[in-house]
Amino acid sequence: MGGSYTEAEVDAVMEALRESMDPRVGFRAKEREVAFEDAFAAYTGARFAVAYNGAGTALDMVLRCLDLDEGDEVISGALNFVGTHVSVLGQGGRLVLAEVEPGTLNLDAADVARRRTTRTRAVLVTHMNGLPADLDALTRAVSAPVDRFEGPPVLIVDAARACGATDSTGPAGASAWATVFSFQSKKLMTTLGEGGMVTTNDADLAGRLRRLRSFGKNTGWGSNYKMTKLQAAVGLVQLRRLDAMNDRRIALARRRNQLLVGVAELTLPPERPGRGHLYYRYVLLVPVDWAGARRDAVMRRLAGEHGIGSVIADPPTYWTHSGIRAHLGGGLTFPVAELTARRMFCPALHPLMSDDDNRRIARAIRESVQYVATTADAR
Ligand SMILES: *Cc1c(COP(=O)(O)O)cnc(C)c1O
Repeated sequence: MGGSYTEAEVDAVMEALRESMDPRVGFRAKEREVAFEDAFAAYTGARFAVAYNGAGTALDMVLRCLDLDEGDEVISGALNFVGTHVSVLGQGGRLVLAEVEPGTLNLDAADVARRRTTRTRAVLVTHMNGLPADLDALTRAVSAPVDRFEGPPVLIVDAARACGATDSTGPAGASAWATVFSFQSKKLMTTLGEGGMVTTNDADLAGRLRRLRSFGKNTGWGSNYKMTKLQAAVGLVQLRRLDAMNDRRIALARRRNQLLVGVAELTLPPERPGRGHLYYRYVLLVPVDWAGARRDAVMRRLAGEHGIGSVIADPPTYWTHSGIRAHLGGGLTFPVAELTARRMFCPALHPLMSDDDNRRIARAIRESVQYVATTADAR
């Protein structure tokens, strides 16, 4: 399910178009872009916000700003969106995967500390499915000196699924070296199907990202990664609506948690003190001995009997992407990530669902789990 628009977005588009009807006035795309960037920076508390045509291109350019040499490493969580890892490969980095914490899908800081070397240039942290990762622990993991210490790696946060989240350091986007947001049509706020933003407190990085997005601004390489005026106009409205949309999502998820509390087979989504979960996806875990086949049976029952879709978001990227698998080579063992991927399923959740829809979905989940628990041939 995608983003939702109201008459306010329609009006914003029409206004942006109408003021551009007279060619002598000019299109003036920059004004909307700057207004949206300023509003986004203010919202997150970051010093700078730089709009892009998508989070994928934005992440590419953030990683480009690391000027990676051959053999330079970027650590990222094994459970992830494939594009996040593809981006590291595209900028010539060596992708080093790390385990996720048991119970959440987020990067495990202790494992990051173990996998860090003198070649580690960045830790790329995805706030998986709306639950912010532990940035305090990750900051400690990257700031402790290692042998032949050359300078600490930077934290890059992929907050594509966590627009409006609060992590332990404050609003997402305010503290890491760079934080990337997506406004693609499935995300928490959207700008006509595609769009992205980077926030940073580093003036040099912000300047470089602006040059890269617009043909290098007479200095170096760049291309055209700009957001359109209509996207920025819509983004301004969506940003005003973001908290309300997120609050509704959170309320539905918490209500659903209450409705599923008695289902012994299910591990409900975790909440972490000081780190608000936005429930971009509503992740449930089945028991360890149900991993794989019986989890699949629950998903099949949910779809076949009740018409309710669910997804597995996301398995280890080396399971689904052959290029990532080839890059990483053999001998991959991430037992926590792999077991989590075989236990998880994410039934639909959307802010426009009614309380009745939500109750119906919770009942269907409960029935499907009970069905699988009592049906021998589902084993
Ligand atoms: C959607 C998504 C992206 C890519 O965003 P686009 O705006 O579609 O390029 C990157 N990372 C994560 C975690 C995502 O969910």
